[in-house]
Amino acid sequence: MDGRQQLDGIGVSPGIAFAPAMVVRWDFPDVPDRAVTREEVPGEIARLRQAVSEVAHGLTSLRERVAERAGPEESGIFDAQILMVQDEDYLGSVEMLIRNNLLSAETAFEFKSLELREAWAGAPRLRERLTDLTAVQRQVLHRLLDRSDHEEWSIELDEPVIVVAHELSPGVTVQLDREHVVGLVSEQGTRTSHAAILAHSLGIPAVMGVPEALDHIRNGTVLLIDGKRGTVLLDPTPADMDTARARLSRRHRLALELETAVGEPAVTPDGLDVALMGNVDLPEEIEPALRNGARGVGLVRTEFLVTGRAELPTEDEQFAYFRRVADAFRRDPVVIRAFDLGGDKFPVGFRAPVEANPFLGWRSIRVCLDQQEIFRPQLRAVLRAAVDRNIQLMLPLVTRIEEILESRALLEEEARALARDGVPAAKSVPVGVMVETPAAVILADRLAQVSDFFSVGTNDLTQYTMAADRGNARLASRFTAYHPAIIRQLKDVSDAGARQHIPVSICGEMASEPLAAVLLIGLGYRCLSVSPPELPLVKWTVRRVPFEAAKRAAAAALEAGTADEVRAAVKEACGSYLDLRMFDPLNSLPDIRKAASLPTDFPTSTS
Ligand code: PEP
Ligand code: MG
Repeated sequence: MDGRQQLDGIGVSPGIAFAPAMVVRWDFPDVPDRAVTREEVPGEIARLRQAVSEVAHGLTSLRERVAERAGPEESGIFDAQILMVQDEDYLGSVEMLIRNNLLSAETAFEFKSLELREAWAGAPRLRERLTDLTAVQRQVLHRLLDRSDHEEWSIELDEPVIVVAHELSPGVTVQLDREHVVGLVSEQGTRTSHAAILAHSLGIPAVMGVPEALDHIRNGTVLLIDGKRGTVLLDPTPADMDTARARLSRRHRLALELETAVGEPAVTPDGLDVALMGNVDLPEEIEPALRNGARGVGLVRTEFLVTGRAELPTEDEQFAYFRRVADAFRRDPVVIRAFDLGGDKFPVGFRAPVEANPFLGWRSIRVCLDQQEIFRPQLRAVLRAAVDRNIQLMLPLVTRIEEILESRALLEEEARALARDGVPAAKSVPVGVMVETPAAVILADRLAQVSDFFSVGTNDLTQYTMAADRGNARLASRFTAYHPAIIRQLKDVSDAGARQHIPVSICGEMASEPLAAVLLIGLGYRCLSVSPPELPLVKWTVRRVPFEAAKRAAAAALEAGTADEVRAAVKEACGSYLDLRMFDPLNSLPDIRKAASLPTDFPTSTS
């Protein structure tokens, strides 16, 4: 590339931006160790309380601005920060330090803040929210040191820039002057970080997880960033600019074609009908799924009913929600997934043990079966909602046949109890298994004997097969469902389902990636459940690539030894039917735990 340099990261907010870099470093201020006299203690405590209340006040007005500009989900991010900064355990421990050790408010606050950050850094489910915590701590310290003008976004801009930082807090992302900040680059952050979600909602192109960006980019270095591909090009030439412009215009053309695709059937040119369903993580996704032509919901994630709340949802509340989804889709199937708690998703009110490896820990169906007071109300809600509706139940993270049998037994018990009590409810519902562990794949033929359907969760299947944490930016290129180990498992699952005559679908993010969708069709899948915004592009692709070509792609992929060979096989098979430049590189498939898990349940004490 004639000496020019390209840095690769994760595209978290699509769009192309071109401008000089503005490198910013939001460091923690130097806090001098300062002792106080006993008489000064009440004054220090009052200063601490005042600083905290100013920061909380600032965050509250940010929340209001975000609610206007981006919507209620996004503004909820600031509720979490307000909770963090006002946490009484946290502030109480700082006050104790001021009182007992006669330290100034800033010295004590810095000490306790460091302790808390270390605790969060060591806890997988909190690590991703460390940026949010750091940002509020920094603000309090700046105020205690009377340096509030140094904090967050107080830089005046009069020309367009791309902001480059080690990490971007949600507050910074929102306060950016959109006239002048045309793009964002950061070393930290993944698609699921709050700053990324906000950048996306605000329409600012952003690339995050760019290793060592600050070592390579100087203030004023001209950058060309592509927030879809996840690339940052330093000192682009006029030819690079032309390429980027052409890419942008192709994307616009495609957008127009997609509008038409929505109303058309998902049928390949040689007549194979593919059922494209939607994944619904939050109630707000019901409408986009319908609008984009989803034929039902292949995955209703239920965790939003739990995360960020102090109490578990009641049976009635769950019933109302399931009914609402089923009413929206009427005749088409709606597949409710049992609570996929654990890993990084636990309610505040639920005392979950701290585990060294939460993704290998007590999660999903294991929690449901061990904590029946959580599972039974959900089963009852499903049965009640299923009266005259096509509702099905899906069990996540199955690794053992017993889990299916026990779940079925509980479902039967609850159906009998409902009938006994005269509560209107279905006698049963189809029970399917999420195939998302290698154990489930290897045992698929046996699981199929006791399952009504399979749905493959390629996100977790990739994580567990590749031994690569799905949320770890450093592993993004290794976390790919194009790896032949995944492709072969996908074939095995589809074969096992066919032998047992049960339907098999895909609900992991792989199905939302159009060329991967072609591959999946070639591997035998006839039903794909897709993230609602991706439905038009997947359908547009399905309508252009014949089933024969999809089968060729699958056959070649099954012979491949590397992920690159799999990608090449798919491109080769699709090349004559599609302008492949329409598609951005077959990147690692994204982690989709986006807004669904925006947690507001931050334990802020270190105890
Ligand atoms: C999956 O693992 O592919 C899946 C669909 O479930 P989740 O992303 O919610 O873990
Ligand atoms: Mg999963």
